[in-house]
Amino acid sequence: MSIITAKFGGTSLASASQIKKVADIIRANPDRRYVVASAPGKRFSDDIKITDLLYKLHAQFTNGEDFSGTLDKISQRYSEIISELGIEFDIDSELDAIQKNIIAGASADYPASRGEYINSKIIAKFLGWEFVDASEVIFFKDNGHLNEKKTFKAMGERLAALDYAVIPGFYGSLPDGSIKTFSRGGSDVTGSIVARSVNADLYENWTDVSGMLSADPRVVKSPKVIENITYTELRELSYMGASVLHEDAVFPVRKAGIPINIRNTNKPEDHGTLIAASLPPEARAKRKAVTGIAGRKGFTSVRVEKSMMNGETGFCVHLLSIFAKNGIPFEHCPTGIDTISVIVSSDLFDAQRETVLREIKNELEPDFITIEKNLSAIAIVGEGMVSVKGIAAKVFKALADANINVRMIDQGSDELNIIVGVDESDYVKAINALYDAMLA
Ligand code: ASP
Repeated sequence: MSIITAKFGGTSLASASQIKKVADIIRANPDRRYVVASAPGKRFSDDIKITDLLYKLHAQFTNGEDFSGTLDKISQRYSEIISELGIEFDIDSELDAIQKNIIAGASADYPASRGEYINSKIIAKFLGWEFVDASEVIFFKDNGHLNEKKTFKAMGERLAALDYAVIPGFYGSLPDGSIKTFSRGGSDVTGSIVARSVNADLYENWTDVSGMLSADPRVVKSPKVIENITYTELRELSYMGASVLHEDAVFPVRKAGIPINIRNTNKPEDHGTLIAASLPPEARAKRKAVTGIAGRKGFTSVRVEKSMMNGETGFCVHLLSIFAKNGIPFEHCPTGIDTISVIVSSDLFDAQRETVLREIKNELEPDFITIEKNLSAIAIVGEGMVSVKGIAAKVFKALADANINVRMIDQGSDELNIIVGVDESDYVKAINALYDAMLA
């Protein structure tokens, strides 16, 4: 018997009918033994997530405002779920406890965590499974970082004693026993921690899409789902803006070589996306060289020119240290013989613009500094690119045919990606041209 850890997101658990779908999915495979649950999310686009209501509750209390209306909304949502599921559950005492603890001075993390806490208790009851409070098995250090060793040990031991259990996502406890949450969307991280602690064979992450898409659906019409992707490719695409999982969710399972399967609660028949250390041979055989395309707007290029720069030792280090000193990380740094461009986030650069330019002028005495704003960066990502000839040619032909001027080129040293910089006004056109040429 293998072990599957299955995490269900907020939209998958937003109502009683969604919870019933989830229960069917869980019961369809007895290997799904450890379930991690989010708080009820949105049922429709204008709906409010329970987590947001809980944050609001705390903010209203802190500002001395009346929070009874917010509490009523939370109560209504849960009461509806409880009565439609037909279970006995004392929601009033849960909400009383939240009120009391807020009044006693609990931080915002405490009420925020109650969304998953209550939902997981409800789901455990509905399934007839054990409930394990995350605060007893997920531990943070005083500095707010996860105490991995203590957590994996405590969680592993606790769950080894249980055949089936529901664990709330999103939170754990600090050394003083108080509640601390991960950043938003953090139930994905809990799922990964549970999978790692029980040494699961698979970490299923159930959401409302049938996997990771090969391009942003707001930019490309109906992009294809990526069936298989490596952790490294996922990291590259996520960094460039593709979002399917919380950024920190990959690390615990990746270290243990546990694959992640993104699945759709509303279409359980779809295979979704399998994320693993390497691609299965059959997937590798039928796959294109490029796996996905993602991009981000909002970059500025600071181009510094100085004749004989090439002969000056440490020029590049000195230039980058000026950005670092001013809290601006660089994204790319293409160089010429006597030029160097530093590509940075426009927001961060604009906030420090005068200081940075003054320091460059005074300390490096360049001949020219040229600032180009409104740049976007587009990453074409795929492990297959290393072994296939002509990918770069295809990329630049597609952009040239679409009459797009390429303003920056960067190929990662692992040959996993080619990044091109284009004007923000060409962003949509460029991604579509690249998608049509490489992935359609
Ligand atoms: N409920 C939390 C949030 O809305 C955590 C999660 O769903 O993963 O961010």
